[in-house]
Amino acid sequence: MLIPWIYHQDYDIPLPQNHRFSSSKFGDLWRLLTNCDLKENSKIFTPKPTTEDALLQIHSVEYINKIKYGKLTNEEERILGLPWSETLSKRSFLAVNGTALTCRLALSNGIACHLAGGTHHAHHNFGSGFCVFNDLAFASKSLISEGLCKKILIIDCDVHQGDGTATICNNDPNIFTCSVHAKNNFPINKVKSNMDIELADDITESDYLDQIQNMLDICFKKFLPDLVIYDAGVDVHSVDRLGRLNISSKCILKRDIKVLSFIKNMDIPVATVIGGGYSSDSLELAKRHSIIFQAVHSQYS
Ligand SMILES: [Zn+2]
Repeated sequence: MLIPWIYHQDYDIPLPQNHRFSSSKFGDLWRLLTNCDLKENSKIFTPKPTTEDALLQIHSVEYINKIKYGKLTNEEERILGLPWSETLSKRSFLAVNGTALTCRLALSNGIACHLAGGTHHAHHNFGSGFCVFNDLAFASKSLISEGLCKKILIIDCDVHQGDGTATICNNDPNIFTCSVHAKNNFPINKVKSNMDIELADDITESDYLDQIQNMLDICFKKFLPDLVIYDAGVDVHSVDRLGRLNISSKCILKRDIKVLSFIKNMDIPVATVIGGGYSSDSLELAKRHSIIFQAVHSQYS
């Protein structure tokens, strides 16, 4: 089976040197994946930018216009963590639709993988932690409002809590938000997801995998979705610049296989997004983000 990969060449953004966010990470991942064996089992899809009307499902018109026209205040830009640019604005309208397209393709294929996504700190009227628009909330609300599915489970294994997703989605009974994150990491003020698992900084790999299993067992007892969006963030990695955990690439692969095989056994489609990952070594970071693609290949090809 060919696995849908969703990517746009305009995903990368210009940033000052030594910025904590890697300006080329989406292109780096694209180049790594399209030059490896996994490419033979993939089919590429390209998103179009979303419309402002569609974004109103989750963001305020004031905030959308600030991003569109570059009107963020200095303080808003500081909280976002990224300098505004035309490129940033353009890629933000593209990337949310990339995750929505990934979800649509997951419904028809059983699986689809976005080479971006997981901007879970974006709130209704402000961006935060390198996240402009919230793709997880946007894709969920869009697919449900289009009648393509009824219930969506968002499993977020990025090391940081999915606070924006939780605040946008938690009044919606058809979306269940689950975040497995480091207790002592950003954001300082956590909000309540439908389910939160907080991890201690010194958690062992075997306890981490047990917690993932525990999360899967509880989530699917509480909520039976017809689509899962899986944020396979790699900032749990031991040498991640912003993570606090001590998890190896091998363990991240085990985590991703555990999540995917559990969902596949239940015959529920899954859309994957790459989530967070921070390193000054761009090849090393691309390799970490490619782990979810290896896991998908092992379960679905
Ligand atoms: Zn993160």
